[in-house]
Amino acid sequence: MADDTLHSDGFGTLAIHAGQSPEPSTGAIMPPIFQTSTYVQPAIAEPLGGIYDYARVANPTREALERNLAALEGGAEGLAFSSGLAAIEAVLKTLSAGDHVVSEENTYGGTTRMFTRVLERLGIAFTFVDSRDPEAVAAAMRPDTRLVHVETPTNPMMRLCDIAAIGDIAHAQGARLMVDNTFASPYNQRPLALGADVVIHSTTKYINGHSDIIGGVLVVADPAFADEVRFVRKSTGAVPGPMDAWLCLRGAKTLHVRMRQHNAAGLAVARFLEDHAKVDRVFYPGLPSHPQHDLAVRQMTGFTGMVSMDVGTLERARAVVEHTRLFQLAESLGGVESLVSVPALMTHASVPAELRARMGVTDGLVRLSVGIEEVEDLIADLEQALG
Ligand SMILES: *Cc1c(COP(=O)(O)O)cnc(C)c1O
Repeated sequence: MADDTLHSDGFGTLAIHAGQSPEPSTGAIMPPIFQTSTYVQPAIAEPLGGIYDYARVANPTREALERNLAALEGGAEGLAFSSGLAAIEAVLKTLSAGDHVVSEENTYGGTTRMFTRVLERLGIAFTFVDSRDPEAVAAAMRPDTRLVHVETPTNPMMRLCDIAAIGDIAHAQGARLMVDNTFASPYNQRPLALGADVVIHSTTKYINGHSDIIGGVLVVADPAFADEVRFVRKSTGAVPGPMDAWLCLRGAKTLHVRMRQHNAAGLAVARFLEDHAKVDRVFYPGLPSHPQHDLAVRQMTGFTGMVSMDVGTLERARAVVEHTRLFQLAESLGGVESLVSVPALMTHASVPAELRARMGVTDGLVRLSVGIEEVEDLIADLEQALG
């Protein structure tokens, strides 16, 4: 299976070393946390390095993180933000009132909320489609479409879209393709290599991996577009603090090791659940029963620790999440510890019931973020909770 192959392209070496070098005055092997708001300038309007005038604009700890994550995604430049949503918003703010965006309908709930309740009000138009079907994306394109936004795999239904095919459709109309790669992580999927223009991560999830910060990053292929987004960030201000940037950089150093374990444990849990009499359906791209398993194998090198299952009714979903002991009831995902949630009542409560039903988010749907505890213990926990 693709999920336990090691990367031959030096991914783990980049994760540990890319973007960082020992601090020159002491040799400290870890990049310092530059906890400062401003910088002393040797002369008027002559900041050191040409950029260090104010920390909203430039911070060396943040820059180390950005170089590291740009290397992991194979992009030209990285830009770190105070949250995943702030990163998405910065890309949208390169657009203007009157511009049109085509978006996958089953995105992270907060993304849909930003698009429909904030940005639509400011004059950006959106069309929501099921991007599993590239034809649906093509049909929604208009002459004023500037951006296509997709998420693959999606939360919580684990739907995929064909990044290369959708990239071709977007580019044929002169639009950019943005891919939310939060669920896959760069260890399992590299959208820029498949033709995307911008990758966004909520670094809150797998990249930081320790459930102790909120953060976001964009990695872009074109330096000129990086400049446009950097201008928006400087002008609107959603930067991460240096301590959070440093924690995220520390987390990224073990991304490859964590993802190997998440991938292996996710697959083992998905297989266990698929054979369980009290589980109606399992949603996991690594299972041959997943309707898009072929695309998953083509586009991803591993299938993560995110597994959803339908246990039939809200009552049964409630019983499961109230009885797990290792899987803790919480929103969020991608940390070393295992979490469980009921999307219909938690992460997707703000999505209208009709759209939830269309996306397949039933009341009996339970979402697992399989952590890196011993997999035997995790399966035993699910076994007793389902019983
Ligand atoms: C969490 C999440 C976001 C939003 O990120 P924040 O860091 O919470 O702002 C966006 N997309 C996906 C897929 C997510 O899981």
